[in-house]
Amino acid sequence: MENKKLDTRTITDLKEEKNGSHYHLYCLSCGKEYPDTSFRLNCDNIHEPAFLRPLYSETRLKPDRTLPGIFQFSNWLPVGESLTGDGKSITYKSEKLASMLGLENLFISFNGYWPERDAFMNTCTFKELEAFPVISRLLKSHKSNLVVASAGNTARAFANVCSQNSIPLYLVVPEFGIDELWLTTEPNEHVKLIVVKGDYTDAIMLADRLASESGFTAEGGAKNVARRDGMGTTVLDAALFMGEVPDHYFQAIGSGTGAIAAWESNLKLVQNGQFGDENKRMKLHLAQNIPFTPISQIWRSRSKNFPSLNDKVARQQIEKIYAKVLSNRKPPYSVKGGLYDSLTDTNGLMYEVSNAEALEAEAIFEKLEGIDIVPAASVAVAALIQAVEQNRLDCSDTILLNVTGGGEKRLKKDVSLRYLQPSIVIDNPDIDLDFVIGVLGV
Ligand SMILES: *Cc1c(COP(=O)(O)O)cnc(C)c1O
Repeated sequence: MENKKLDTRTITDLKEEKNGSHYHLYCLSCGKEYPDTSFRLNCDNIHEPAFLRPLYSETRLKPDRTLPGIFQFSNWLPVGESLTGDGKSITYKSEKLASMLGLENLFISFNGYWPERDAFMNTCTFKELEAFPVISRLLKSHKSNLVVASAGNTARAFANVCSQNSIPLYLVVPEFGIDELWLTTEPNEHVKLIVVKGDYTDAIMLADRLASESGFTAEGGAKNVARRDGMGTTVLDAALFMGEVPDHYFQAIGSGTGAIAAWESNLKLVQNGQFGDENKRMKLHLAQNIPFTPISQIWRSRSKNFPSLNDKVARQQIEKIYAKVLSNRKPPYSVKGGLYDSLTDTNGLMYEVSNAEALEAEAIFEKLEGIDIVPAASVAVAALIQAVEQNRLDCSDTILLNVTGGGEKRLKKDVSLRYLQPSIVIDNPDIDLDFVIGVLGV
């Protein structure tokens, strides 16, 4: 794989000459506006929890095809410099799966590695769409020592981007996620792996503590506008390909950040009628993996308050799910601009998919479409099959299926992978941080 270097072209430089910046942030609760200079994650005012959202001076989608990968959408990303990297979503129209399901307009957003279709997301999931803009935003804000907690795919995406660009990174990963930490590039000394013996939530808790130490920067998860708008480029790419905002959107969710991002892209795309009238909403069809389906259960009751889950029960459920990345226990559900609002505004639906259904869907997809997909993507395909069986779709509806990861098997045939080695393994998430920082030699 070619070595990626920092690209010297900067989009903000061009825009800043004209009007200061190509975007600013505003709070979805109180409307307070902020220039984006300090990697801000929250509003300063005291009110209900609420997301910030970027407002771009460009109201039409105008990709710049001369820029690399996802940076083609820089007009609508809260970023500075482009990083070199070919990773972006590709959209194509399905034939075989569509015909099996009796659908005339099934489009697939493929996020992974599939050279025959010009898909070069080398970490093989749409988490790469977060990593590039988050790192670019970090550099623009003159911050460093990013701390990222992940069940695996996010960690791999950040590890690759930071290795390629020699950017300091602290990855906190639950033990089950370490096999996922392969690189298509040389591991870089600035990228440190902290393994926690526990689940995703334990990793998040340790990462939160580390990030609050001085000199470290929290990535922020769903609160990070770069993460959301990066993931939302799946829908931008699809809209350009389809010429419209689709009627339906299918995705498997753990936190639901990708789904929130898809909805936010919908809002941007229709703001001046470029891709349909301003009331056009793409219905969200979101899926979880049985037996861990807390978002589905709370949405069924249409309650806005996400319950605090019983620790022991949640752990046992998460052990049983096939798509381990769909295991977030504290999703951004109730926060203003979060999952509850996304599902409400789009009249969305939740699906519950068993391991057996996911495995069957995975085999069907690989056979018909000709590429392997990751477990979470299989859950989304299974949800689409359920929707067809339950007559929730008209055969002529335009449907976007987000295949959030794929081509791992294909990549492993083409490229020899390297594995990131732990810098420290932690048994007890309450461990003394000075000790950890000492071991890491920060
Ligand atoms: C993280 C992840 C998801 C779930 O994404 P959300 O953040 O919950 O929207 C789905 N598929 C894959 C492959 C993932 O890595």
